[in-house]
Amino acid sequence: MFPETIQLFHDYRIEEVLAAPQAEYGHHFGGPILHEGLSENECGFPVHLICNLNSRDPLVELALPNAQWLPLYYCFSYENQSMSMGYRVLSDQRIEAFFNNDERIDLGNDRFPGDDFPAAFPVTPLQTQSVTFDPTKVQDVSSYVNAFGIANLSLTDQQSFLKDCKQSWDKYAPEPWTGPLEELLDHQTGPACQGPPNSECANPNCANHTKKRELELFAVVPATPVPKISLWGEWGDDTQILFEICPLCFTIVVTNQCT
Ligand SMILES: [Zn+2]
Repeated sequence: MFPETIQLFHDYRIEEVLAAPQAEYGHHFGGPILHEGLSENECGFPVHLICNLNSRDPLVELALPNAQWLPLYYCFSYENQSMSMGYRVLSDQRIEAFFNNDERIDLGNDRFPGDDFPAAFPVTPLQTQSVTFDPTKVQDVSSYVNAFGIANLSLTDQQSFLKDCKQSWDKYAPEPWTGPLEELLDHQTGPACQGPPNSECANPNCANHTKKRELELFAVVPATPVPKISLWGEWGDDTQILFEICPLCFTIVVTNQCT
């Protein structure tokens, strides 16, 4: 199954981020945006802070250059704007945001979110907790193949994993798979419910701006990241927000998927 809590992935380790009575490192869900560069005046529409994580916590493996905090932001206001956003954390005070206007969509009457959507989510303290994960075990790897790939499996296990992928493809797809077996990894789910997001870097000045498969999936936020908070309303229970990071310029690219 797909993550039911916020999960972080980095360097073959997985952490859950859970609501807690107190936040030992000050991690929190919700609250107003914390960085210059993301206000409605600057972006043209509202951006929401999902959570802010303190990299002093040894379980927050992904440390950004020039910033102690790892903020997870997303734009929920879809009317006349893009479904994805990118941002580079320049410091704990300032962010450079990137939006792709080519992706703007017209939702017609299906406006999301409605007028009752909060300007900011209510603040909830968070704590981290390790998830048991062994990158040499097929069962563990298959649930997180979008984050870590299969390179840490033995060659025999890699081959048998890919064979299983092909078998499943041939069973459900209209035509049998005839391409290279490794490319089947682009069609496997886990932890992303529709498979690896494979975004390009949103920073127009980065060499990865026009390249796919270069970013690292480092976080998944489920529809109900903390108790009683549903990010997508009653119809969005199966929606995930995915966070990828560019290894060259540390731009974070945020997209969503649903089953
Ligand atoms: Zn980049």
